[in-house]
Amino acid sequence: MNFVSVREGAPGERRVALTPGVTKRLVGLGASVHLETGYGAALDLADDLYTEAGATFGARDALLASADVLVALNPPDEATLSALPEGAIVMSFLDPFRKGELVTLARDRKLSTLVMELIPRTSYAQKMDALSSQASLGGYAAVITAADRSPKSFPMMSTPAGTIPPARVFVVGVGVAGLQAIATAKRLGARVEAYDTRPVVAEQVQSLGAKFVELDVGETGQTEQGYAKELTPEQLAEQRRQMAKVVAGADVVITTAQLFGRPAPRIVDADMVAGMKPGSVIVDMAASTGGNVEGSVSDEEVVVNGIRIIGFANLPGQVARDASEMYASNVFALIEHAWDEEQGGMVVERDGDEVLNGCLLTHGGVVRDERVAKSLEGGA
Ligand code: NAD
Repeated sequence: MNFVSVREGAPGERRVALTPGVTKRLVGLGASVHLETGYGAALDLADDLYTEAGATFGARDALLASADVLVALNPPDEATLSALPEGAIVMSFLDPFRKGELVTLARDRKLSTLVMELIPRTSYAQKMDALSSQASLGGYAAVITAADRSPKSFPMMSTPAGTIPPARVFVVGVGVAGLQAIATAKRLGARVEAYDTRPVVAEQVQSLGAKFVELDVGETGQTEQGYAKELTPEQLAEQRRQMAKVVAGADVVITTAQLFGRPAPRIVDADMVAGMKPGSVIVDMAASTGGNVEGSVSDEEVVVNGIRIIGFANLPGQVARDASEMYASNVFALIEHAWDEEQGGMVVERDGDEVLNGCLLTHGGVVRDERVAKSLEGGA
């Protein structure tokens, strides 16, 4: 079975979907791996490293035309999907709720898409959970970026010239990214507070040595899969009102709040930003999915009245080597799970297979996930 991976097209992207180590494991499994010339150059991984692992190299168009499976990290663009043979398998992030055109194209070209965002959040599937692996590194990079931009030291320091108090960091949204942000800020010596609408996370926040901020916004909770329930506009307004004081006292605010399949909630408004001290830093990890912070711009760093608002979309890409290792490992776990010895390759369907059932989005000309199908009807 021909596994193909081509260079990631997104500007500034240094991550790769396959590392030399995972290439070797794939070849060991019985796959043949074909890569675009210069595949890992952005990460300083020479072609030789992949050749030694058992891959061969070729030109992009020829490779795509011969692919049984395309392995990618970012959603492949329309030209890439169009260059694949009908019926090919695609494994990658696809951003299916916002990139409806890719879903439609994949459906119409009868591609079988195994979509990383739709891997079930179960204990068994944890090793394939690329949303988590990338979010965790993103949470780390958000804090490192904030520390770099902040005019304040994170740890407390006692010096002959005086005592420097620790930086105050406020993390909003305590999922995978938020937990890693809390842990990283704590390690750097900051005083950390955190808030989430899911009260179940309070204990996790406290176990990391941070303070959980209690806000009374009425009934909140989570879905069966553990995702946050969307707040009403009135609840969000109340949340902002009660949160303003904590935001005003923070040197750094990191927002990570997401709603599965929906635009991110607006949590910090312009007045709250204006209430912060000059030199304060906000990292809005949801800037590319609608933004938690008023005034944040996806992929940009803006300064509003002395407050720096960072909306970088690809924070995991700042630690591209580790992010690639984690992603490649997630992909390998999914391939290994789907491998069928008798067929000498991977399958995309299997009776009662919770993982494949969950992440196989398009197959045989049909969109199989009801939530995505519904968002397509809505013109997404
Ligand atoms: P996410 O990226 O969807 O959202 C980040 C956080 O934002 C969540 O904690 C959410 O509750 C919070 N949020 C949403 N609206 C908010 C608001 N208005 N104010 C404050 N916070 C708000 O979350 P995620 O990191 O993908 O995690 C989602 C769930 O999946 C969690 O329950 C997590 O524990 C679970 N999970 C399970 C596994 C597993 O079992 N394999 C793996 C990863 C995550």
